[in-house]
Amino acid sequence: YSLAHELQQRKVDRDITEFWFYMNTKLEKLKTNGNNEAAKDILKTAQDYQRTLRNDMQSLYDTDEMDKWREKEGKELGELVQKRLHYIQNPKDCSKAKKIVCNLSKGCGYGCQLHHVTYCLITAYALERTMVLESKGWRYAAAGWETVFLPLSDNCIDRQGQGARHWSDPRNLVNEMAIEMPIIDSLHPRPDFLPLAIPEDLAPRLTKLHGNPSVWWIGQIVKYLTRPQPHLQKDIESVNQRLKFSGPIVGVHVRRTDKVGTEAAFHGIDEYMKYVEEYFDLLETKQKVEKRKIFLASDDPSVATEARQKYPHYEIINDPDITQSAGLNKRYTDESLRGIILDIHFLSLCDHLVCTFSSQVCRVAYEMMQTMYGDASSKFKSLDDIFYFGGQNAHNEKVVERHVAQSNTEIDLEPGDLIGIAGNHWDGFSKGLNRRTGKTGLYPSYKTIDHVTTSKMPLYRQVS
Ligand code: GDP
Repeated sequence: YSLAHELQQRKVDRDITEFWFYMNTKLEKLKTNGNNEAAKDILKTAQDYQRTLRNDMQSLYDTDEMDKWREKEGKELGELVQKRLHYIQNPKDCSKAKKIVCNLSKGCGYGCQLHHVTYCLITAYALERTMVLESKGWRYAAAGWETVFLPLSDNCIDRQGQGARHWSDPRNLVNEMAIEMPIIDSLHPRPDFLPLAIPEDLAPRLTKLHGNPSVWWIGQIVKYLTRPQPHLQKDIESVNQRLKFSGPIVGVHVRRTDKVGTEAAFHGIDEYMKYVEEYFDLLETKQKVEKRKIFLASDDPSVATEARQKYPHYEIINDPDITQSAGLNKRYTDESLRGIILDIHFLSLCDHLVCTFSSQVCRVAYEMMQTMYGDASSKFKSLDDIFYFGGQNAHNEKVVERHVAQSNTEIDLEPGDLIGIAGNHWDGFSKGLNRRTGKTGLYPSYKTIDHVTTSKMPLYRQVS
């Protein structure tokens, strides 16, 4: 199939989703506000229609062995990126290799720190340099990154006494042996290769393959960074066996404690389970599900107890040791490091994710999930944000259909306009800034498509 065909297919799928968000929100309101019996009936029947449409779309997406093609293409592209990363990380002569120095001392959680290192490795890739990670004294494991993950290089893991210049205009840094990266939020000037940009040379294949090429690309970087040490790999395998981890299973991540009220709102377990139910209702129209299963991860150990009480017909999988080590009082200990790595690993192995993308934990799981399928871009439901990379360059959507504002909360759209998207309200509308008119407001999500940005990065012909 052509690229145009794949894009059109994904657009129809998204239109169905957005149409359903709109109808569902409106009918739910009608139903509860007026205790309206007709609305209740329509909602129930519309739900059936919606499920059928989704299944039809899925069958269409996977016909003619396209799913097999996607799997193969995803694997090949993934191997290509991994080879390139291996190449920059293993220079012939470390003392002569130009470097990016990245320090793990960013004062935040594991997901946030992993994303910091991710942005450093993207920088290294974009500038064809070797990344050196300075991780001694890491708040999660004082001995550093290699406590759990393989070293990022076989022969080049320190800066060899070379002094590093701080980041500035890359044109002035060309001859510098080592460049030290600040945290992404204070990066200046801001290069165009930062997420959500993808390498230009991979773009044609990647946009055909995947519904969210940026996440796929970030997932590959995360994959390289988090290659487990043999002891961690063994640990993962034995926990996998102990938990009898198997599908179909939905990964649920409930972020509470210090996040609630500061960076995100509180969401009750029922809000997550509503989407888990939807997932299984849909699946059961196609196959028999012996037992509905979720893998539950949270930084609040009481969530699992509550979920077991309220959802006794579900098999709720989690490791009690990990759950106990996830609490706020245990944060930044060795056990909590093991816990968060395992939780993210199992979340990423699930068939679908329900979580809040305001949390880097779930975003990392979603990124890693992409490395295991051809296209897993739609295997999630976020209760709050759309996917983003902290500190990313502007994320734009492109208008494909005209819109005339229906109220003063909405904005006008003309085909071709670029909209800086702030968020999807999951009710048929998104909020954003129309860069042509300078106005911010709501618009129907289906009238835009994602605008993928590309950046010219080295072609790595040596390993293509
Ligand atoms: P964010 O604050 O949610 O965006 O994510 P971060 O990863 O930056 O920081 C949150 C930290 O809280 C994690 O790194 C973990 O240490 C801990 N944490 C949060 N959620 C979970 C969870 O589901 N399981 C475990 N084991 N730890 C968690």
